[in-house]
Amino acid sequence: MSDLCKLCEKNVLENVGSHIFTESIIRTALNQDGYTKREDKELIYEISIDKIGLDFFGRGVLPEKIEAITGKELSDEEIEQNKNPLINRNLVCRKCEKKFGPIEAEFTSTIYSNIVRKNRYELQKDECNYISFENQKWLALQFVIINVWRASSSNYNDWKLNPDQEEYLRSFILLTADDNIESIIKKTVENREKIKQFNFVLNYFIQKSENLSENGVLIDTWENPYFILLNRLSLIFDFTSLNVAKLPLLVNEIIDKNFNCIIPNIESDELRIGLNSDEQRTELYYRVSLKAAKDILRNIEDVFINTHKFTFGFPPPFNSMVYFKKSVGNYTKEEGKITIPGLLEVVIKVIEDCAKSYS
Ligand SMILES: [Zn+2]
Repeated sequence: MSDLCKLCEKNVLENVGSHIFTESIIRTALNQDGYTKREDKELIYEISIDKIGLDFFGRGVLPEKIEAITGKELSDEEIEQNKNPLINRNLVCRKCEKKFGPIEAEFTSTIYSNIVRKNRYELQKDECNYISFENQKWLALQFVIINVWRASSSNYNDWKLNPDQEEYLRSFILLTADDNIESIIKKTVENREKIKQFNFVLNYFIQKSENLSENGVLIDTWENPYFILLNRLSLIFDFTSLNVAKLPLLVNEIIDKNFNCIIPNIESDELRIGLNSDEQRTELYYRVSLKAAKDILRNIEDVFINTHKFTFGFPPPFNSMVYFKKSVGNYTKEEGKITIPGLLEVVIKVIEDCAKSYS
């Protein structure tokens, strides 16, 4: 692997931990108590078609849980192995990492937090339901580009744009980067012809309850257009024009009504973000669960084996494996639908029972 920064391709990497996705958007997720109060208590469940796991429990969580189960402390090395998959230390140099900050700060304060507190705005309710921001299309474009580029460049969950597409975004980030948002937006507008192939729409899904079990980060394997879900915000994007006839399967018939209203108008600087109900969000997450269920069931066994090794230092003996499979079977029968947090709870419960029976 090259030790050069993937953005400037000049400077040497300096072990700078870059968030693959904008932290403030991800941080609306999950923690042990269901709320985001303490950074190191954060629990991130990855929802993935290909990979699902106990990859990362925030530093405060997994060691405590495992210590409670086993009565032994984890070594630094063991804690280190429990890495946050949403941070990449082999992405960019220190200088390039600073290029993202102004965009993320401005997007969060000017756009995202205003949607979360949406009652301050008059909602548009003709055919569609969306929230409008005058002159903010370019800021949103930059926000989408840096998130998509970092995910692709990090090969997040084995997902990647094709090399030309990734290069198209990389060169635009470099061309328009600056240390303040005003200059970034100015350069973006000046160079807009150079990014006109890239199109995106944003959708926000209202979440009524602070239910931690239904947050997640997902990149769908769907292409043309692509789909990324960052908790309550979804990004749909492509390198050709977007249209309602080819929506990603996961959101098909969920956001159709909004779609034509929120596609950016070439002539305008207005940004429209689709607003979707809690019911639509629930439907989306249900589809995600269904789509992932098969792979999840296959992978949850690996999760159990790895967690067992990680906790006790040896792979599960035959009896424990049988007990685990039975527990998963009971869980899926009782619940009727499979959720990742639910399955992870089964893993934890079986590990706890194993600890009792081994002692
Ligand atoms: Zn760099």
